[in-house]
Amino acid sequence: MGEAGQVSVLSLKGVGPQLRAKLERLGILTVVDLLFHLPLRYQDRTRLVPIGQLRPGVEALVHGHIEISGVRFGRRRSLVTVLCDDTGRLTVRQFHFNASQRRGLKRGAFIQCYGEVRSGPTGLEMVHPEYRLIEGPDAVEVETTLTPVYPTTEGIGQRRWHDLTGQALARCGEAVPELLGDWASFEFGDLPLSEALMQLHRPPPGIDLETLKAGTHPAQQRLAFEELLANHLAVRQRRERRDALSAQSIQASTEFWPRLRDALGFTLTDAQQRSIDEIVADLGKPTPSLRLLQGDVGCGKTVVAAAAVLAAIEGGQQAVVMAPTELLAEQHLRVFSGWFEKVGIKPVWLSGRISQRERRAVCAQLSSGAARVVVGTHAVFQDDVSYHNLGLVVVDEQHRFGVAQRLALREKGQREGSAPHQIIMSATPIPRSLTMVMYADMDLSVIDEMPPGRQPVETVVLPNTRREDVQARIREACARERRAYWVCPLIEDSDVLAVQAATSRAEALKSELPGLRIALLHGKIPSAQKDEIMDDFRQGRVDVLVATTVIEVGVDVPEASLMVIENAERLGLSQLHQLRGRVGRGDQKSVCVLMYQPPLGHNAKERLATMRQSTDGFEIAQKDLELRGPGELLGVRQSGAPQFRIADLARDRALLPAVQHGAVRLLRDYPKKAEPLIARWVREGLSFSNA
Ligand code: ADP
Ligand code: MG
Repeated sequence: MGEAGQVSVLSLKGVGPQLRAKLERLGILTVVDLLFHLPLRYQDRTRLVPIGQLRPGVEALVHGHIEISGVRFGRRRSLVTVLCDDTGRLTVRQFHFNASQRRGLKRGAFIQCYGEVRSGPTGLEMVHPEYRLIEGPDAVEVETTLTPVYPTTEGIGQRRWHDLTGQALARCGEAVPELLGDWASFEFGDLPLSEALMQLHRPPPGIDLETLKAGTHPAQQRLAFEELLANHLAVRQRRERRDALSAQSIQASTEFWPRLRDALGFTLTDAQQRSIDEIVADLGKPTPSLRLLQGDVGCGKTVVAAAAVLAAIEGGQQAVVMAPTELLAEQHLRVFSGWFEKVGIKPVWLSGRISQRERRAVCAQLSSGAARVVVGTHAVFQDDVSYHNLGLVVVDEQHRFGVAQRLALREKGQREGSAPHQIIMSATPIPRSLTMVMYADMDLSVIDEMPPGRQPVETVVLPNTRREDVQARIREACARERRAYWVCPLIEDSDVLAVQAATSRAEALKSELPGLRIALLHGKIPSAQKDEIMDDFRQGRVDVLVATTVIEVGVDVPEASLMVIENAERLGLSQLHQLRGRVGRGDQKSVCVLMYQPPLGHNAKERLATMRQSTDGFEIAQKDLELRGPGELLGVRQSGAPQFRIADLARDRALLPAVQHGAVRLLRDYPKKAEPLIARWVREGLSFSNA
């Protein structure tokens, strides 16, 4: 650990191995981790609330004298105490109590209570509040700061948190020395970190609770800024490390690629050609390049990747094409096999599902160099796979890979001071401010143009009570030799339920749409059979493909012109956009029907309206960021990585320009501060672009 203050929690009073283990469950290992373990919310015991002002649902500190107290024998035995102050009367109800408690709560005594108010049978009450007997009205003890409520785990109570964070705060100065200053070009840059932490762990009375709740309080912004800055610095550092490695310099293809290009049957768009030029320039460098090839669904990224792969092969290097799902990898295999046939090259295939024998054979071909290009899932980077001379790695939709897989990829790629070139293809549009900060280690090529002749997809939003209208649309499309997708998304995060929903939907449609050929596709269907089903759909032997969201990424069937999505309100905008991108790939007018379960909440309404109004992936991504937060957008949620401790890219995106600016200043004027900042905030492997 880089910082002197990164001392173990074991150094705190009262922390032994057992408590340490519990803290570790929350990722808390050091005093610094404790300081960054911020309260979820706050309670206000700094002021007394007159009983007459209490409202159900609020937590409050009150005091009063006991008017009456006694045991009631209702459905459950309870000790009921009625207290009053000058303004009103409050019932305190306890279901668990002992004899001495009962004796203490006697008529005429004074108590102070803190608890949540609710409405009971005889007016407002508190159930099991914290209470304390006091001498009289003047003896009330109020706290001097708000009381923090910490996120916790089994076996650590709030009092313990208070004690632990109190000890950590006492050491704040040495644990987290100040690393920013007024140079940070950021509004709250000169609020010292220790003070910000103090304000958040022990807010003074009168602090603006609303901004705290929203995460926009200066103290929170101060921390978020530093965290984002540290992560940005880590990304830059990764780039520097990569620049220190060597790579095979690969020349532009003069034979293979021109031959394929002339046989494609379409002309590249300017944006595709520009991207190819940028990639070819990268490949020529003696250091490993890393380029993000970004472009909306259907813009034609695959052929750009093919140009790069052919350059590598022609230059005597091997190339890998990796996709996050079997379905998508299989599609790449089919497309690349078809294209590369024209230049006499046959890609080999590696997935987790092939037999051991096949696998050994493929591995042998890869390590001898006999196989020039392999297409597959993350199986292409498992331990037993070694390459003869790997020059290029192409990864499709890398954000869908888990963190562990991405790390494996990185390690596999880098050996003995050299690494292959990398291209990452993504249809997930990332707002520019975000790319600059969090993907700063990658170069960016954007395909911002669709192949000519595409018609924008019309989007219709319908409640699921209008199923018959939808069926009519399907009949009509299929009568024109078109095909339709019907997608049943994940329900309650359960694959099993999604499969069930898709299965029963397929059954229902079979009886509702007699004469149409309906097939079912989901992740539990064996790979070979899945292939067959996709092929039937592609060839027109199936009219309607009912599926779970497995078809979300990349599937390409130009004759499909109708996309029906059930429970669309459950999906994120970017995901809906991906699904919608499955149609509108031919020259036919296409329609996307978003069905929802009424009633719609405000946010859901706005999301579906966005889908209806826009077909621009960037605009949609921006809206998604606003409405949902970046987790979904960037696939972090899928990979399950806790990304930031405090920062939230959706909430804090206004900080990004200052982060970028601040990094430049820091590296120029205070370069020695970069390392400790990274060590303080960035946990290796959990940051976000670790390609
Ligand atoms: P994505 O960027 O979503 O991966 P694909 O590479 O799958 O898109 O391309 C979508 C479809 O468009 C494919 O059928 C592809 O062959 C076709 N395509 C790609 N480039 C062009 C072009 N310049 N003109 C016409 N069709 C193209
Ligand atoms: Mg694609």
